[in-house]
Amino acid sequence: MKPFRIFTIGAIALFLAACQRPDHTTLDSQAPLQRLLDGNARFVSGDLWHPHQTAARVKETASGQHPFAVVITCSDSRVSPEILFDEGIGDLFTIRTAGNLLSDIELGSVEYAVEHLGAKLIAVVGHTECGAVKAFVEGGEAPGHIADLVETIAHEAEEQAVVAQIGKNLPACIAANVLHGVDQLRHDHPILADKIASGEVQLAPMLYDLKTGKVKVLNEQELRKEYHLR
Ligand SMILES: [Zn+2]
Repeated sequence: MKPFRIFTIGAIALFLAACQRPDHTTLDSQAPLQRLLDGNARFVSGDLWHPHQTAARVKETASGQHPFAVVITCSDSRVSPEILFDEGIGDLFTIRTAGNLLSDIELGSVEYAVEHLGAKLIAVVGHTECGAVKAFVEGGEAPGHIADLVETIAHEAEEQAVVAQIGKNLPACIAANVLHGVDQLRHDHPILADKIASGEVQLAPMLYDLKTGKVKVLNEQELRKEYHLR
């Protein structure tokens, strides 16, 4: 094929790809959970849109933010929400701690995002091979404040139920830790509990797979039934 023809075909392909890129209305019209899942599908397939990552977006959001979702996830360097959900500036209100653990400070941050910024979805995203949960599973002495992380996980009712039934199984303990986070949010009074109960704000327990880059929604009801959790 002649170089000019290859160039022309390449230019047309680039033009078509650019046409498929989202404008604000495409993303804003999506339901929050579907938007996260679609973004993750783009990340996994390599067809990234990199939305809202321009200087124009910086300017546009300088006077205010309206993130559509709160993402609570692990501080693990391999679990970066904007990257794995293919989002940009002003889209996600993120809270990250080792083991995606929630104390009062983190709960206050979630409340702020929901009450003042209008976020409509709270996703708790655990991940495979989580070091914090692994430290609990493996036991032994943890130095300094790392011990607090392990202690917190050990005291979760969901963890205790899983351990009592099947022992310290890492994937099950990771799932139990996510369910605990979701349950904390569901019982967070006075701000979150009512909004979640009324459906105004959606909760999503999720799991990120370090090997594939995929995020899946955990079936909370099924898991609670399986481990005889309340
Ligand atoms: Zn982790």
